[in-house]
Amino acid sequence: MHQSLQGATFHIEHVIPRVRGGTSELSNLALACPSCNLHKADRVTSDPDHAPAAIALFQPRTDVWSDHFEWDDYQLVAKSDVGRLTIQLFRLNHERRIKIRQAEQMFGLFPPQLSSN
Ligand SMILES: [Zn+2]
Repeated sequence: MHQSLQGATFHIEHVIPRVRGGTSELSNLALACPSCNLHKADRVTSDPDHAPAAIALFQPRTDVWSDHFEWDDYQLVAKSDVGRLTIQLFRLNHERRIKIRQAEQMFGLFPPQLSSN
């Protein structure tokens, strides 16, 4: 989502939470909408207890977006287990988000321009 059409200011999110040893270096920070930040909480994988077989969440600072996701109209489609988990956990295809993407398109903000990693 693009912040410019949102009422709430986005949060600076720690990708690896501080309680799990994450730092406040730029390499560990990401801009997140309040909904994503609340859904993520202190998680980094599919398992809150970090079982070895847990699936990692998409890591915006090191993973390549197009390896894990693609657009099908306004729906975000997973291309990997990481993508599936991230879409599910963050509810990235919630009806409200679809409407936001439709509105963003009218302002030239959807689909988003990807910065290269
Ligand atoms: Zn979000």
